[in-house]
Amino acid sequence: MTLIIHRCSCGHPDLFHRVDFASGAVEDCTGCLGGTHEFGPPEAIPSWRTDPAHPTAGTVADPNPVEPGTTLQGLPRLCGCQDCRDLYQRLSREVG
Ligand SMILES: [Zn+2]
Ligand SMILES: [Zn+2]
Ligand SMILES: [Zn+2]
Repeated sequence: MTLIIHRCSCGHPDLFHRVDFASGAVEDCTGCLGGTHEFGPPEAIPSWRTDPAHPTAGTVADPNPVEPGTTLQGLPRLCGCQDCRDLYQRLSREVG
């Protein structure tokens, strides 16, 4: 699967941050201390999986994008903003 995230100015993805959902303000980052946090435009991060047909052949990229706003096991809820949705639509078309 491919995750759509916002890269923060601190270098970590938005998933590492605690955000005050009422105001949208970034409170802090679990990956670093202090610093300023400003989210950039969304970007796609591919993840890797083993090919079930060739389990010993190593990992292959899994291009299927995860829909914005989805909550994945063990991860915070993915951002569901319009920019993320636009990128998702584009990726979905490319995957076919
Ligand atoms: Zn950080
Ligand atoms: Zn940050
Ligand atoms: Zn977003």
